[in-house]
Amino acid sequence: MHEFSFAYNIFKVAEATAIKYNAKRITEVLLEIGELTLIVPELLQRSFEMATKGSIAEGAKLVIIMTPGKIKCRECGKNSEVTLTKDAQLTGLQLFQCSHCQSNNTEIIEGKKANVKNIKIQE
Ligand SMILES: [Zn+2]
Repeated sequence: MHEFSFAYNIFKVAEATAIKYNAKRITEVLLEIGELTLIVPELLQRSFEMATKGSIAEGAKLVIIMTPGKIKCRECGKNSEVTLTKDAQLTGLQLFQCSHCQSNNTEIIEGKKANVKNIKIQE
């Protein structure tokens, strides 16, 4: 389960921050996820609930913000925003095309990472 280990890592990051601030509870976790991580938000929500059960983050709200993927073209050097097609979500494979010169010679520069942006705590 991709989402579960992911949710667990998010929880660990949030927990470490909460401990640093002597918090008793985590009430909200704001998370930014790149679209190209292939994470399914609904599954992540459920996994997060499971991962935080019995912890200081139990019942915390997980707010997910999806950020678009970005590619850099090796031909013209320009950046384009990309989104996944339904097929790519199934196979996890996609060649992205530069929206400026239509070249397929591109590299992904954003959208494959997730960041805990903020957490809300109770002291
Ligand atoms: Zn290009």
